[in-house]
Amino acid sequence: MKKPIPFLDLSLFDRKLKFALERKFSDMLSKGIFSGGEEVALLGKNIGNYLGTEAAVIPCSNGTDALEIALRALGIGSGDEVIVPALTWVSTAESVKLVGATPVFVDTDMSGLMDLQLLDKLMRPQTKAVIAVHLYGKMVDMKGLTAWAKSTGIKVIEDNAQGFGAIKDEKSAGCWGDVGCFSFYPTKNLGALGEAGALATSDENLANKIQMLINHGQPIRDQHEMLGRNARMDTIQAGFLNVKLTYFQKWQEKRKNLAKLYLQQLAGTGDLVLPESILEPDHNAHLFVVQTSFRNELKQYLKEKEIQTTIHYPSILPKMKPYQINETFVNAEKLTGNILSLPLNPFLTEKEVLRIAKEIKKFYGKTS
Ligand SMILES: *Cc1c(COP(=O)(O)O)cnc(C)c1O
Repeated sequence: MKKPIPFLDLSLFDRKLKFALERKFSDMLSKGIFSGGEEVALLGKNIGNYLGTEAAVIPCSNGTDALEIALRALGIGSGDEVIVPALTWVSTAESVKLVGATPVFVDTDMSGLMDLQLLDKLMRPQTKAVIAVHLYGKMVDMKGLTAWAKSTGIKVIEDNAQGFGAIKDEKSAGCWGDVGCFSFYPTKNLGALGEAGALATSDENLANKIQMLINHGQPIRDQHEMLGRNARMDTIQAGFLNVKLTYFQKWQEKRKNLAKLYLQQLAGTGDLVLPESILEPDHNAHLFVVQTSFRNELKQYLKEKEIQTTIHYPSILPKMKPYQINETFVNAEKLTGNILSLPLNPFLTEKEVLRIAKEIKKFYGKTS
Protein backbone atom coordinates (compact mmCIF):
# COMPACT_ATOMS: atom_id res chain seq x y z
CA MET A 1 0.00 0.00 0.00
CA LYS A 2 1.20 3.50 -0.80
CA LYS A 3 1.61 6.18 1.86
CA PRO A 4 -1.68 7.92 2.67
CA ILE A 5 -2.02 11.51 1.46
CA PRO A 6 -3.60 13.69 4.14
CA PHE A 7 -5.57 16.79 3.17
CA LEU A 8 -3.18 18.81 5.32
CA ASP A 9 -0.71 17.61 7.94
CA LEU A 10 0.16 20.48 10.28
CA SER A 11 2.98 18.54 11.92
CA LEU A 12 5.08 18.85 8.78
CA PHE A 13 7.61 21.63 9.22
CA ASP A 14 10.89 21.83 7.46
CA ARG A 15 13.78 21.54 9.91
CA LYS A 16 14.91 25.13 9.58
CA LEU A 17 11.44 26.45 10.39
CA LYS A 18 11.02 24.11 13.32
CA PHE A 19 14.32 25.30 14.72
CA ALA A 20 13.39 28.98 14.20
CA LEU A 21 10.05 28.47 15.96
CA GLU A 22 11.70 26.68 18.87
CA ARG A 23 14.23 29.47 19.20
CA LYS A 24 11.46 32.08 19.12
CA PHE A 25 9.58 30.18 21.82
CA SER A 26 12.64 29.96 23.98
CA ASP A 27 13.30 33.73 23.50
CA MET A 28 9.76 34.55 24.52
CA LEU A 29 9.98 32.29 27.55
CA SER A 30 12.99 34.17 28.81
CA LYS A 31 11.44 37.60 28.10
CA GLY A 32 8.31 36.72 30.07
CA ILE A 33 5.90 38.85 28.01
CA PHE A 34 2.82 36.85 27.06
CA SER A 35 0.24 39.46 26.16
CA GLY A 36 0.84 42.48 23.97
CA GLY A 37 4.41 43.72 23.74
CA GLU A 38 6.72 44.25 20.83
CA GLU A 39 6.06 40.96 19.01
CA VAL A 40 2.41 41.94 18.52
CA ALA A 41 3.24 45.47 17.38
CA LEU A 42 5.91 44.07 15.08
CA LEU A 43 3.47 41.61 13.55
CA GLY A 44 1.05 44.43 12.68
CA LYS A 45 3.93 46.24 10.96
CA ASN A 46 5.24 43.14 9.20
CA ILE A 47 1.83 42.24 7.83
CA GLY A 48 1.24 45.81 6.66
CA ASN A 49 4.61 45.71 4.87
CA TYR A 50 3.87 42.37 3.29
CA LEU A 51 0.48 43.59 2.06
CA GLY A 52 2.06 46.81 0.81
CA THR A 53 -0.48 48.92 2.62
CA GLU A 54 -0.47 52.09 4.68
CA ALA A 55 -3.50 50.76 6.54
CA ALA A 56 -3.19 50.04 10.26
CA VAL A 57 -2.99 46.29 10.85
CA ILE A 58 -4.22 45.32 14.31
CA PRO A 59 -3.54 41.75 15.47
CA CYS A 60 -6.36 40.12 17.44
CA SER A 61 -7.52 36.83 18.92
CA ASN A 62 -8.97 35.12 15.81
CA GLY A 63 -10.81 35.74 12.54
CA THR A 64 -14.30 35.36 13.99
CA ASP A 65 -13.58 37.98 16.65
CA ALA A 66 -12.11 40.22 13.95
CA LEU A 67 -15.43 40.13 12.08
CA GLU A 68 -17.41 40.85 15.23
CA ILE A 69 -15.11 43.73 16.20
CA ALA A 70 -15.27 45.16 12.66
CA LEU A 71 -19.07 45.22 12.80
CA ARG A 72 -19.05 46.83 16.23
CA ALA A 73 -16.44 49.40 15.17
CA LEU A 74 -18.75 50.39 12.29
CA GLY A 75 -21.59 50.82 14.75
CA ILE A 76 -23.65 47.92 13.41
CA GLY A 77 -26.09 46.27 15.78
CA SER A 78 -29.72 45.60 16.56
CA GLY A 79 -32.15 46.50 13.76
CA ASP A 80 -29.42 46.56 11.11
CA GLU A 81 -29.02 44.20 8.17
CA VAL A 82 -25.74 42.96 6.75
CA ILE A 83 -25.48 41.21 3.39
CA VAL A 84 -23.41 38.02 3.46
CA PRO A 85 -22.90 35.23 0.92
CA ALA A 86 -24.95 32.05 1.35
CA LEU A 87 -21.83 29.89 0.91
CA THR A 88 -19.01 30.64 3.35
CA TRP A 89 -17.59 29.50 6.66
CA VAL A 90 -20.13 30.04 9.45
CA SER A 91 -18.23 32.94 11.10
CA THR A 92 -19.28 35.39 8.39
CA ALA A 93 -22.95 35.23 9.44
CA GLU A 94 -22.30 34.23 13.05
CA SER A 95 -20.52 37.53 13.74
CA VAL A 96 -23.49 39.48 12.35
CA LYS A 97 -25.86 37.65 14.70
CA LEU A 98 -23.48 38.13 17.62
CA VAL A 99 -23.73 41.93 17.36
CA GLY A 100 -27.52 41.67 17.22
CA ALA A 101 -27.89 42.44 13.51
CA THR A 102 -29.52 40.26 10.84
CA PRO A 103 -27.57 38.51 8.10
CA VAL A 104 -29.24 38.80 4.69
CA PHE A 105 -27.99 36.07 2.42
CA VAL A 106 -27.05 36.52 -1.20
CA ASP A 107 -26.45 33.77 -3.77
CA THR A 108 -23.00 33.19 -5.24
CA ASP A 109 -21.74 32.80 -8.78
CA MET A 110 -20.50 29.37 -9.86
CA SER A 111 -17.03 30.05 -8.48
CA GLY A 112 -18.55 30.48 -5.02
CA LEU A 113 -18.18 34.25 -4.76
CA MET A 114 -20.99 36.61 -3.79
CA ASP A 115 -22.97 37.61 -6.91
CA LEU A 116 -22.68 41.40 -7.02
CA GLN A 117 -25.52 41.66 -9.56
CA LEU A 118 -27.98 40.65 -6.85
CA LEU A 119 -27.02 43.30 -4.29
CA ASP A 120 -29.38 46.07 -5.45
CA LYS A 121 -32.39 43.85 -4.91
CA LEU A 122 -31.40 43.24 -1.27
CA MET A 123 -30.95 46.89 -0.34
CA ARG A 124 -33.32 48.20 2.31
CA PRO A 125 -33.16 51.25 4.59
CA GLN A 126 -31.76 49.06 7.37
CA THR A 127 -28.95 47.62 5.21
CA LYS A 128 -25.73 48.87 6.77
CA ALA A 129 -22.94 46.72 5.41
CA VAL A 130 -21.90 43.93 3.11
CA ILE A 131 -19.29 41.30 4.00
CA ALA A 132 -17.30 40.15 0.99
CA VAL A 133 -15.71 36.72 1.41
CA HIS A 134 -12.67 35.89 -0.72
CA LEU A 135 -13.71 32.26 -0.74
CA TYR A 136 -11.04 29.63 -1.46
CA GLY A 137 -8.57 32.52 -1.77
CA LYS A 138 -10.15 34.10 -4.85
CA MET A 139 -10.89 37.80 -4.54
CA VAL A 140 -14.35 39.21 -5.00
CA ASP A 141 -14.41 42.01 -7.60
CA MET A 142 -13.55 44.66 -5.01
CA LYS A 143 -13.36 47.49 -7.51
CA GLY A 144 -16.97 46.82 -8.49
CA LEU A 145 -18.10 46.24 -4.93
CA THR A 146 -16.47 49.33 -3.41
CA ALA A 147 -17.86 51.50 -6.25
CA TRP A 148 -21.33 50.09 -5.59
CA ALA A 149 -20.93 50.62 -1.84
CA LYS A 150 -19.85 54.21 -2.37
CA SER A 151 -22.94 54.92 -4.45
CA THR A 152 -25.25 53.36 -1.86
CA GLY A 153 -23.41 54.55 1.26
CA ILE A 154 -23.14 51.14 2.86
CA LYS A 155 -19.99 49.83 4.51
CA VAL A 156 -17.77 47.07 3.16
CA ILE A 157 -16.12 44.50 5.40
CA GLU A 158 -13.78 42.00 3.84
CA ASP A 159 -13.74 38.52 5.31
CA ASN A 160 -10.21 37.83 4.17
CA ALA A 161 -9.72 34.73 6.31
CA GLN A 162 -8.96 32.70 3.17
CA GLY A 163 -7.44 35.36 0.93
CA PHE A 164 -4.18 36.39 2.60
CA GLY A 165 -1.66 37.35 -0.09
CA ALA A 166 -4.12 37.72 -2.97
CA ILE A 167 -3.78 41.03 -4.80
CA LYS A 168 -5.56 42.92 -7.57
CA ASP A 169 -4.79 46.31 -9.15
CA GLU A 170 -1.85 46.62 -6.75
CA LYS A 171 -4.11 46.45 -3.71
CA SER A 172 -4.06 43.41 -1.44
CA ALA A 173 -7.12 41.49 -0.34
CA GLY A 174 -8.18 42.84 3.04
CA CYS A 175 -7.18 46.42 2.17
CA TRP A 176 -10.15 47.37 -0.04
CA GLY A 177 -13.04 47.58 2.36
CA ASP A 178 -13.70 49.89 5.31
CA VAL A 179 -12.29 47.07 7.43
CA GLY A 180 -10.47 43.90 6.42
CA CYS A 181 -10.61 40.82 8.66
CA PHE A 182 -7.90 38.18 8.72
CA SER A 183 -7.60 34.74 10.27
CA PHE A 184 -4.36 32.98 11.09
CA TYR A 185 -6.09 29.77 12.09
CA PRO A 186 -3.50 26.99 11.64
CA THR A 187 -4.97 25.69 8.34
CA LYS A 188 -4.97 29.06 6.55
CA ASN A 189 -2.18 29.99 4.11
CA LEU A 190 -0.51 31.95 6.91
CA GLY A 191 -1.32 29.99 10.03
CA ALA A 192 -0.31 30.46 13.66
CA LEU A 193 0.38 27.57 16.05
CA GLY A 194 -2.98 28.28 17.61
CA GLU A 195 -5.76 30.83 17.27
CA ALA A 196 -5.00 34.26 15.84
CA GLY A 197 -6.42 36.95 13.56
CA ALA A 198 -6.15 40.61 12.60
CA LEU A 199 -8.04 43.67 11.40
CA ALA A 200 -6.90 46.23 8.85
CA THR A 201 -8.25 49.69 8.17
CA SER A 202 -7.03 52.90 6.56
CA ASP A 203 -9.41 55.00 8.67
CA GLU A 204 -7.52 56.31 11.68
CA ASN A 205 -10.63 56.77 13.82
CA LEU A 206 -11.75 53.23 13.08
CA ALA A 207 -8.26 51.94 13.88
CA ASN A 208 -8.34 53.66 17.28
CA LYS A 209 -11.80 52.31 17.98
CA ILE A 210 -10.78 48.78 17.00
CA GLN A 211 -7.70 49.00 19.20
CA MET A 212 -9.97 49.92 22.11
CA LEU A 213 -12.66 47.36 21.33
CA ILE A 214 -10.18 44.50 21.46
CA ASN A 215 -8.82 45.72 24.79
CA HIS A 216 -11.77 46.43 27.13
CA GLY A 217 -12.43 49.86 25.67
CA GLN A 218 -9.15 51.18 27.06
CA PRO A 219 -7.13 53.83 25.23
CA ILE A 220 -4.69 53.59 28.14
CA ARG A 221 -4.59 51.31 31.12
CA ASP A 222 -7.49 51.67 33.59
CA GLN A 223 -9.29 54.23 31.47
CA HIS A 224 -12.39 52.62 29.93
CA GLU A 225 -13.96 54.77 27.25
CA MET A 226 -16.39 52.29 25.74
CA LEU A 227 -17.72 48.80 26.11
CA GLY A 228 -15.00 46.56 24.79
CA ARG A 229 -13.84 43.02 25.37
CA ASN A 230 -10.70 40.95 25.41
CA ALA A 231 -9.88 40.01 21.83
CA ARG A 232 -6.12 40.47 22.01
CA MET A 233 -3.63 38.23 20.27
CA ASP A 234 -1.36 36.01 22.36
CA THR A 235 2.20 37.32 22.23
CA ILE A 236 3.43 33.83 21.55
CA GLN A 237 1.28 33.53 18.42
CA ALA A 238 2.52 36.91 17.19
CA GLY A 239 6.07 35.67 17.66
CA PHE A 240 5.39 32.48 15.70
CA LEU A 241 3.65 34.43 12.94
CA ASN A 242 6.60 36.82 12.68
CA VAL A 243 8.75 33.77 11.98
CA LYS A 244 6.29 32.09 9.60
CA LEU A 245 5.68 35.26 7.61
CA THR A 246 9.28 35.10 6.36
CA TYR A 247 8.44 31.75 4.73
CA PHE A 248 5.13 32.86 3.27
CA GLN A 249 6.28 33.93 -0.20
CA LYS A 250 8.13 30.65 -0.73
CA TRP A 251 5.06 28.66 0.34
CA GLN A 252 2.85 30.64 -2.03
CA GLU A 253 5.15 29.78 -4.93
CA LYS A 254 4.94 26.12 -3.96
CA ARG A 255 1.14 26.25 -3.86
CA LYS A 256 0.98 27.92 -7.27
CA ASN A 257 3.34 25.36 -8.82
CA LEU A 258 1.33 22.46 -7.44
CA ALA A 259 -1.93 24.08 -8.58
CA LYS A 260 -0.45 24.46 -12.06
CA LEU A 261 0.49 20.80 -12.10
CA TYR A 262 -3.04 19.79 -11.08
CA LEU A 263 -4.48 21.94 -13.88
CA GLN A 264 -2.15 20.38 -16.46
CA GLN A 265 -2.85 16.85 -15.30
CA LEU A 266 -6.61 17.18 -14.89
CA ALA A 267 -7.52 19.24 -17.97
CA GLY A 268 -10.34 17.57 -19.90
CA THR A 269 -10.92 14.83 -17.32
CA GLY A 270 -14.51 13.61 -17.22
CA ASP A 271 -16.97 16.28 -16.11
CA LEU A 272 -14.43 17.95 -13.77
CA VAL A 273 -14.65 21.73 -13.56
CA LEU A 274 -11.26 23.11 -12.52
CA PRO A 275 -10.57 26.36 -10.60
CA GLU A 276 -9.44 28.30 -13.65
CA SER A 277 -8.18 31.55 -12.14
CA ILE A 278 -6.18 29.89 -9.38
CA LEU A 279 -2.85 30.88 -10.98
CA GLU A 280 -3.78 34.59 -11.12
CA PRO A 281 -2.44 37.05 -8.50
CA ASP A 282 -5.97 37.74 -7.23
CA HIS A 283 -6.15 34.12 -6.04
CA ASN A 284 -3.85 32.91 -3.25
CA ALA A 285 -4.40 29.21 -4.03
CA HIS A 286 -5.75 28.57 -0.53
CA LEU A 287 -7.95 25.71 -1.69
CA PHE A 288 -8.02 23.68 -4.91
CA VAL A 289 -11.73 23.14 -5.38
CA VAL A 290 -13.01 21.04 -8.28
CA GLN A 291 -16.64 20.52 -9.24
CA THR A 292 -18.23 17.30 -10.47
CA SER A 293 -21.69 15.76 -10.46
CA PHE A 294 -19.98 12.57 -9.18
CA ARG A 295 -18.63 14.34 -6.10
CA ASN A 296 -19.60 11.78 -3.46
CA GLU A 297 -18.43 8.86 -5.59
CA LEU A 298 -15.11 10.56 -6.36
CA LYS A 299 -14.58 11.45 -2.69
CA GLN A 300 -15.25 7.84 -1.69
CA TYR A 301 -13.00 6.47 -4.44
CA LEU A 302 -10.11 8.71 -3.35
CA LYS A 303 -10.69 7.73 0.26
CA GLU A 304 -10.26 4.08 -0.69
CA LYS A 305 -6.96 5.07 -2.30
CA GLU A 306 -6.00 6.77 1.00
CA ILE A 307 -6.24 10.26 -0.46
CA GLN A 308 -8.03 12.61 1.89
CA THR A 309 -10.28 15.33 0.47
CA THR A 310 -12.60 17.88 2.10
CA ILE A 311 -15.79 19.77 1.23
CA HIS A 312 -15.87 23.55 1.73
CA TYR A 313 -18.78 23.48 2.56
CA PRO A 314 -21.40 20.72 2.50
CA SER A 315 -24.26 23.07 3.42
CA ILE A 316 -25.17 26.68 2.77
CA LEU A 317 -25.66 28.85 5.86
CA PRO A 318 -29.38 29.63 5.26
CA LYS A 319 -30.05 25.92 5.73
CA MET A 320 -28.35 25.73 9.13
CA LYS A 321 -30.36 25.91 12.32
CA PRO A 322 -29.21 29.30 13.65
CA TYR A 323 -29.67 31.00 10.26
CA GLN A 324 -32.58 29.06 8.79
CA ILE A 325 -34.71 30.82 6.21
CA ASN A 326 -37.00 29.45 3.56
CA GLU A 327 -35.36 30.70 0.42
CA THR A 328 -33.41 29.08 -2.35
CA PHE A 329 -29.91 30.00 -3.40
CA VAL A 330 -29.57 28.13 -6.67
CA ASN A 331 -25.85 28.43 -7.37
CA ALA A 332 -24.65 28.13 -3.78
CA GLU A 333 -26.81 25.05 -3.23
CA LYS A 334 -25.64 23.46 -6.45
CA LEU A 335 -22.05 24.03 -5.36
CA THR A 336 -22.56 22.31 -2.01
CA GLY A 337 -23.42 19.14 -3.90
CA ASN A 338 -20.62 19.41 -6.47
CA ILE A 339 -17.52 20.78 -4.81
CA LEU A 340 -14.51 18.83 -3.62
CA SER A 341 -11.29 20.28 -2.22
CA LEU A 342 -8.17 18.33 -3.24
CA PRO A 343 -5.03 18.48 -1.08
CA LEU A 344 -3.05 21.65 -1.80
CA ASN A 345 -0.44 22.87 0.65
CA PRO A 346 3.28 23.69 0.73
CA PHE A 347 4.14 20.28 2.20
CA LEU A 348 2.56 18.30 -0.60
CA THR A 349 4.97 16.96 -3.22
CA GLU A 350 4.70 17.00 -7.01
CA LYS A 351 4.76 13.23 -6.89
CA GLU A 352 1.70 13.23 -4.64
CA VAL A 353 -0.16 15.61 -6.95
CA LEU A 354 0.66 13.29 -9.88
CA ARG A 355 -0.65 10.33 -7.91
CA ILE A 356 -3.87 12.13 -6.99
CA ALA A 357 -4.41 13.22 -10.61
CA LYS A 358 -3.75 9.68 -11.84
CA GLU A 359 -6.31 8.24 -9.44
CA ILE A 360 -8.89 10.82 -10.50
CA LYS A 361 -8.34 9.92 -14.14
CA LYS A 362 -8.68 6.25 -13.25
CA PHE A 363 -11.95 7.03 -11.47
CA TYR A 364 -13.38 8.59 -14.62
CA GLY A 365 -12.08 5.76 -16.77
CA LYS A 366 -14.06 3.42 -14.56
CA THR A 367 -17.32 5.37 -14.44
CA SER A 368 -17.69 6.34 -18.12
C1 LIG B 1 -11.45 30.55 8.97
C2 LIG B 1 -12.49 31.50 8.57
C3 LIG B 1 -13.05 32.43 9.48
C4 LIG B 1 -12.79 32.40 10.95
O1 LIG B 1 -11.53 32.53 11.38
P1 LIG B 1 -11.11 31.93 12.81
O2 LIG B 1 -9.74 32.47 13.00
O3 LIG B 1 -11.17 30.44 12.70
O4 LIG B 1 -12.08 32.45 13.81
C5 LIG B 1 -13.97 33.35 9.00
N1 LIG B 1 -14.35 33.35 7.71
C6 LIG B 1 -13.86 32.48 6.81
C7 LIG B 1 -14.30 32.57 5.40
C8 LIG B 1 -12.92 31.52 7.21
O5 LIG B 1 -12.46 30.64 6.32
